[in-house]
Amino acid sequence: MIKQEIRIERTSSPKSKPDQSSLGFGKYFTDHMFVMEYSPDKGWHDPKIVPYAPLQLDPSSMVFHYGQAVFEGLKAYKVDDGRILLFRPSKNMERLNISNERLCIPPIDVEFGVEAIKTLVKVDADWIPSEEGTSLYIRPFIISTDPYLGVKPSSTYKFIIILSPVGAYYPEGINPVKIYVEDKYVRAVVGGLGYAKTPANYAASLKAQVDAMKKGYTQVLWLDGIEKKYIEEVGTMNVFFKINGEVYTPALSGSILPGVTRDSTIELLKSWNIKVHEDKISIQQIYDAHAEGTLEEAFGTGTAAVISPIGELDWAGNKITINNGETGGLAKRIYDYITGIQYGKVKDEFGWTVEVK
Ligand SMILES: *Cc1c(COP(=O)(O)O)cnc(C)c1O
Repeated sequence: MIKQEIRIERTSSPKSKPDQSSLGFGKYFTDHMFVMEYSPDKGWHDPKIVPYAPLQLDPSSMVFHYGQAVFEGLKAYKVDDGRILLFRPSKNMERLNISNERLCIPPIDVEFGVEAIKTLVKVDADWIPSEEGTSLYIRPFIISTDPYLGVKPSSTYKFIIILSPVGAYYPEGINPVKIYVEDKYVRAVVGGLGYAKTPANYAASLKAQVDAMKKGYTQVLWLDGIEKKYIEEVGTMNVFFKINGEVYTPALSGSILPGVTRDSTIELLKSWNIKVHEDKISIQQIYDAHAEGTLEEAFGTGTAAVISPIGELDWAGNKITINNGETGGLAKRIYDYITGIQYGKVKDEFGWTVEVK
């Protein structure tokens, strides 16, 4: 690891903290942020924690024009005994580098990235909410900063980490959602940016999301960008189906984001001796299984919700209800187990948690 001293400049005017019952998601930000610079001569340098404040950027900064940027998302959890836990943070920093490679952004030292997260979380530790299901969302991101309008990779960057206290995803208990199977727009194609966590993928997804919401659906299920036959993922989540006692999830084909929750879910299912197929899965296969009565559960996986059961699918006007629109037993079991590990209530046999101290 490159041993770089993180300079800490504390705020002289701490903000008042929001009421824990009205946190929602991504609305409030803590008192500090981490910032580090990249230049070709110095590499990544000058890591510091400074008071949270607007950035000053040249309007010609390349990120505004060509979207050369990447991000990550993970959480810090407050355990009843006062400890603070992160969930597999190295995975996020490793994935950040996979995104970096695709977007021509210089890599971050994984260990140093985790150290930066830990240091910032410690500085703002009193912002971590303690009520059941709440957490501190951590958003690391990198933007390209050359003041230049030519199309090329930037030569300078900023790596920033901000923190946001967030509420329980399911304040009234885990709740199935209605999903629209998107047959008009596509999110990504193999060879494109699908496997990278980059703002461009979200820019491409907004129109479909807005249209689906107008029709009364929570999110869209993306199909492959070429044949619109094979299942990819759901909005900000990977997707799983339980058919006849076995679990199916789309293989990482290059157009799907490799979720940390997806990976954890697969490891967990295997440890429970439940067969997991990582495969090409057509939407027709899912509808056939439903018609045969073997489609038992469907659910999404992601950091925000952990597990989000799918109660209904609408594919070109054909609506199917899954598990009577209720949360399935397996979805609940995975949810309880992973959140149990995250909040230090279930023994962490996988060594997934990292304590911030
Ligand atoms: C972040 C993300 C996921 C979920 O990844 P986790 O690491 O499990 O949070 C899934 N799909 C997309 C498109 C994402 O951006």
